[in-house]
Amino acid sequence: MNVIESILSKDELTRQDITLLLQANDEDKAKLFAKSAEVKEKHVGKRVYFRGLIEMSNICSKNCYYCGIRSGNQNFSRYNLSDDEVVDAARYSWENNYASIAIQTGEVCGSAFTQRIVNLLKKINAATNSELGITLSMGEQTEDTYREWFENGAIRYLLRIESSNRELYSKLHPNNQTHDFDKRIECLRSLRRVGYQVGSGIMVGLPFQTIDNLADDLLWLKEMDVDMVGLGPYVEHPDTPLYKYQNMLLPLEERFALSLKVIAILRILMKDINIVAPTALQAIDKLGREKAIKIGANVVMPNVTPGLYRNDYKLYDNKPCVDDAVDDCKKCLEARIQLTGDEIGYNEHGNSKHFARRTKIVP
Ligand code: SAH
Ligand code: SF4
Repeated sequence: MNVIESILSKDELTRQDITLLLQANDEDKAKLFAKSAEVKEKHVGKRVYFRGLIEMSNICSKNCYYCGIRSGNQNFSRYNLSDDEVVDAARYSWENNYASIAIQTGEVCGSAFTQRIVNLLKKINAATNSELGITLSMGEQTEDTYREWFENGAIRYLLRIESSNRELYSKLHPNNQTHDFDKRIECLRSLRRVGYQVGSGIMVGLPFQTIDNLADDLLWLKEMDVDMVGLGPYVEHPDTPLYKYQNMLLPLEERFALSLKVIAILRILMKDINIVAPTALQAIDKLGREKAIKIGANVVMPNVTPGLYRNDYKLYDNKPCVDDAVDDCKKCLEARIQLTGDEIGYNEHGNSKHFARRTKIVP
């Protein structure tokens, strides 16, 4: 048994084990992926759940250094879908048996925005017989806002920590109160108190990020006991401050390979959570999401945003599928998932088994 095989046979992984797995060579990587695929099959099954992704608006009050839709970027046009457009996209997801949607936006706070989302949740539920599992990803809000949205039908919330290392976090964000590391963690705790299935995640291959940082991120996700994770490669955007560090980045293919390793290790560490196969993987490799599904991911987010706006929700460069019609996305994903050998959980919410276990609700 070589070192990697003996690590993979253990019940608990140490920080050092994780760093060795992250650096595994191709032969050992295949062993890691075989193990993570086995864990996935045993604990969550060979099944993939859809979340119709609605990119509601690219208007954002924040200025994260990595993100293409940061408020400081004036090189593109801002949009805000109407309520009807959001409800139509939700209805499309429901009629096509996706069973779940995820609404994502730039971060906007305040009572008008809170109320808009409350009304929107009501409209979506009225239009879809309250049958959709609704995920929100709308950044940092007050606990009261999170609660109001929860009480009006949102059941999952995705808020990535981006990096669990305070120092690295401060290199990725302006150092002010609206980009405060502790506040982000406090938001994750609020979400959990309110009762959401809580999702977080990181970007892989960021400037200044080390293998040790990634190992700590993985252990942090485990310690936070999250129910879902969305993580993916950092893809630089030319109109962002972080772009100036592009020379210190790993080549895109290596960021891609590292992201897959992180997903595989996460599956081994957190056996029954939901893990998203991120679209950013596909920005690098056409089969990126399928590869992630094979080695541990079990959620994909087909884009159901009206095509007109998709090109303007560019968090990163080379975003795939911006020209596809909604129906094309569905057909293309179906075919792609078939290739992985997994089934699509149509008409199933596909809630996090981990959440069910920790809250003792039968899934
Ligand atoms: N405004 C919300 C949700 C939208 S941003 C929020 O920030 O939580 C969603 C995610 O896009 C972010 O969490 C970040 O991880 C990812 N993202 C932003 N810029 C990116 C980039 N350049 N490369 C890869 N992912 C990026
Ligand atoms: Fe806004 Fe989210 Fe982008 Fe930060 S990552 S600038 S909060 S959309």
